[in-house]
Amino acid sequence: MTENFRLSGIAMPQDAAGMLDIAAEHFAEHAAVARTGDRVTITSEVGEAELALDGSLLRIDLAAQSTVKLQLARTMLAEHLFYFAGDAPFELTWSDPPPPAVLANLHEVRVVSAEPVTPHMLRVKFACADVTPFVGGQMHVRLLVPPKGRPPVWPVIDDDGRIKWPEGEDALLVRVYTIRFVDTGRNEVWVDFLQHPNPDTATPGADFARDARPGDRAAFLGPGGGGVPEAGHIFLAGDEAALPAIARIAEEAPAGTRLTAIIEVENKDEEQPIESAASLDLNWIHRAEHAATGGLLPAIKDKIASLPPETFMWIACERGDIRDIRALLKDRQHDRKRMYVAWYWERGGESG
Ligand SMILES: Cc1cc2nc3c(=O)[nH]c(=O)nc-3n(C[C@H](O)[C@H](O)[C@H](O)COP(=O)(O)OP(=O)(O)OC[C@H]3O[C@@H](n4cnc5c(N)ncnc54)[C@H](O)[C@@H]3O)c2cc1C
Repeated sequence: MTENFRLSGIAMPQDAAGMLDIAAEHFAEHAAVARTGDRVTITSEVGEAELALDGSLLRIDLAAQSTVKLQLARTMLAEHLFYFAGDAPFELTWSDPPPPAVLANLHEVRVVSAEPVTPHMLRVKFACADVTPFVGGQMHVRLLVPPKGRPPVWPVIDDDGRIKWPEGEDALLVRVYTIRFVDTGRNEVWVDFLQHPNPDTATPGADFARDARPGDRAAFLGPGGGGVPEAGHIFLAGDEAALPAIARIAEEAPAGTRLTAIIEVENKDEEQPIESAASLDLNWIHRAEHAATGGLLPAIKDKIASLPPETFMWIACERGDIRDIRALLKDRQHDRKRMYVAWYWERGGESG
């Protein structure tokens, strides 16, 4: 490990060997994982984690390039290990227990304005004291909204390294969004919220944007979840929930990149101008015209069949459709390092 900031921990699961196997398998999806016998090393953009089996324990060594990254690495690992343990008894202790402090990647923001971009897309501009973490790199955040009329209580780090969320009357609304644009001159970050009226269910994330007033308080946790892929040819596909990310990738992709894009929106009024220094071949699909056959999924499948295997596949839409697309890419043995295929929302459920 070359990183300077270090921390060790001890995990006591019911089945330490089983948890090591699960961790090795799970993290291989998101990071570089090396295994030598009973030792697993996970290397990601936040740092390095070593998990070593020692009898009925897992010994953990974390290393990162800054205290902020070290805290993120600990929180990420702690959240995962508790998740892997499920309902079984599990204890996790750290050599340096975290003080109950606000999370290193939590950014308090205030609404500056909320204006429509198209009839169903609202752009909320947030003032943020330090916008530098949002420039370039990772694009997504968890938006945290306090209950109406109450001062916000933000999450803190618990002794076991996990995030301790406020509960009861202070419970926060949490939804995932994309930072559409960062205005470094004004210290603003912009988020585009799709207004997706659902007659049968509440839509708290969309409603936050609809009701947003200047001065309203919120927070972003992040950024995380991927940025502009480094590839010569990128296929971009998705619906309105993915439109802010697709537009940002197109805007940030360097000249010389080839972009092939399919975006599904309700109708022509929902199309947006998308600028790019790259060569952009963009096809808008109107949902209203394909109600019976489903426009986006067949269009994505057709396009994938015609694209060269080295194309980077960046695809985000509804959960069931993503399941189909992943299966197709698996059948075609598409290189997993050359894809970002994520569900952004779920019919009848919350975002992923
Ligand atoms: C990494 C990531 C980035 C995202 N970026 C953005 C973004 O920049 N802008 C954006 O608008 N969304 C974005 N989303 C999607 C957004 O998080 C979800 O749409 C979320 O469900 C909205 O929360 P809600 O409270 O409005 O609705 P929920 O409470 O989650 O759901 C209520 C009902 O609305 C339906 N629903 C939810 N989302 C949609 C949708 N998109 N279309 C149709 N019906 C829907 C659900 O099926 C449910 O029936 C992103 C998601 C992820 C994972």
